[in-house]
Amino acid sequence: MTGLEQIAAQTKAGQLKPSQVVREALDKAAACEPLNIFTEVLTDSALGQARDLEDRLARGEPVGKLAGVPFCVKDNFLYRGTTTTAAAPFLLDFTAPYTATCLKKILAEDAILLGKTNLDAFAHGTSTENSYFGPTKNPRDPSLTPGGSSGGSAAAVAADICPFALGTDTGGSVRLPASFCGVFGFKPTYGLLSRYGIVAMASSTDCVSPVTRSPADAAYLTRILAGADPLDGTTFDAGPDPVLGRTPKVGVVKEFNTGLQPEVGRAFEAVLDRIKSAGWQVSEVSLPDIGLALACYYVLVSAEVSSNLSRYDGLRYGARGGEGDWEAVVGSSRAGGFMAENKRRIMLGTYVLSQGYYEAYYQQAQKLRTLLIRQFETAFRDVDALLSPVSPTTAFKLGEKTADPLQMYMADLMTVAASLAGIPAASLPLPVSGLPVGLQIMTPQKTDGMNLRLAEEVGKLP
Ligand code: GLN
Repeated sequence: MTGLEQIAAQTKAGQLKPSQVVREALDKAAACEPLNIFTEVLTDSALGQARDLEDRLARGEPVGKLAGVPFCVKDNFLYRGTTTTAAAPFLLDFTAPYTATCLKKILAEDAILLGKTNLDAFAHGTSTENSYFGPTKNPRDPSLTPGGSSGGSAAAVAADICPFALGTDTGGSVRLPASFCGVFGFKPTYGLLSRYGIVAMASSTDCVSPVTRSPADAAYLTRILAGADPLDGTTFDAGPDPVLGRTPKVGVVKEFNTGLQPEVGRAFEAVLDRIKSAGWQVSEVSLPDIGLALACYYVLVSAEVSSNLSRYDGLRYGARGGEGDWEAVVGSSRAGGFMAENKRRIMLGTYVLSQGYYEAYYQQAQKLRTLLIRQFETAFRDVDALLSPVSPTTAFKLGEKTADPLQMYMADLMTVAASLAGIPAASLPLPVSGLPVGLQIMTPQKTDGMNLRLAEEVGKLP
């Protein structure tokens, strides 16, 4: 039984009282206030949900697979009737008219929503510092960033406020915070989980992704969340997952095994030793162009960002910045509604899509994306999974990289390739004495269950 299943079972058996569980979680959330994890705590609705669940239990009615489990969502999920800010000035007064599919599925299983968590505005970022509400701090050491952009969700689980949280991962936004905060994060195959009701960042790589205490909990959640959604045309029903039935063969990504901070390098070598001692085959695998993935990602994602954010004009969407003619209204709205990083990406994206530069940047990046997908396919002919650290460094200091966007982008070096290839990628916390280090496990598309089983096995290796 997974941790989440256990909470639900104890709730059904009357051993856990939902209102008490929720009150304790809200108390922890209040005690963690200096970490700035939440954009909004939904105290009344959480307590209301708990009371409703208790009434149904008392009447002997059936309850869901997550009965009484408290959780949080990143504040870029729409939840009908509540504010969804995406941590940007544009949406501070935006009330969601409907609920995101994934959130609906979780709520239908009777999990209890505690609140909305902080993020980099519109999910653009790597440290949760680019938020209108100010940075979230890392529960392991408040002088450090929790990683981003789902920093609030990872911090909520790391601070033990709730056993799971939902985030989104477009280029690493769940894997990196999971790695920096020492919790488990999982980006599924693109399209396995519906994006409906998520504030769009880059539509071709956006993935709803859970943050949990263990791979088993993530597998439990993924089974609940997965499946075709008529409201998101890129979704599909998960078919049967390959079962290995032999000792796994894993490849170490050669290009990602250099330039590591010593603590990260040591933790990575130590887990490889344990894997080898368990009899797994370990080989070095080269993906020759993976070093270009970061440039490719920032061209393509900026292009998609510039298109997705064009709807925010103060007229159709978002807070109106001023009065006057069309240009004055749209100009002032966009000047005040976005954070600096959002504007940087809109400008970059508009540039790479503009006539005269389109072939040189956008089209080249698309070709490179195809090349990277092929290199992954070739690598997966010989190995079941590819391994690397999630990040070359442990969590960095708050403010350390804010003045230098390129340095910030470099933190995404190892996570973006899996996003471009649409493959599942896990971030498993490694046993370390110092700051958390995450192991990235990448497997072929539509092998999400296998990926999570491997993560569980690696986590249990002596
Ligand atoms: N850090 C990456 C970026 O800023 C990833 C963001 C994300 O996954 N939402 O683009």
